[in-house]
Amino acid sequence: MKMNREKIELHEVLLAKAGLYEVVYKDMGFPIYIGGDKKKLSVWGGKAETSLGEWDIIDWNNPELLSRMDAIIEGFTPCTKCGRRMKKDEISLEYFAGRYCEDCATPELRARKKSDYVNLD
Ligand SMILES: [Zn+2]
Repeated sequence: MKMNREKIELHEVLLAKAGLYEVVYKDMGFPIYIGGDKKKLSVWGGKAETSLGEWDIIDWNNPELLSRMDAIIEGFTPCTKCGRRMKKDEISLEYFAGRYCEDCATPELRARKKSDYVNLD
């Protein structure tokens, strides 16, 4: 993989600013995780229950990310895939930290969740 030096520095700056891998936005802390592949950063919300998405670089001006953080602050759960605001009873599928709306909870995703649970036995 070709690394872009600019990107690496941005990661370092972001992580340093985030302190213990958390950024505070509108008085709420949002944990930041480095993905298992060490390539993606993800921002979590709602006491780290919900993944707000994964990015190579976290751009704090990204309107999509800000809208998902706002949703958490306002008591909604944003769909991990499309960002649609959901109330708790509107969440169609929970898969690891992902929360999916009716439209995004594909049969493939549901099947994957099922097989993961089967494999745990
Ligand atoms: Zn969705």
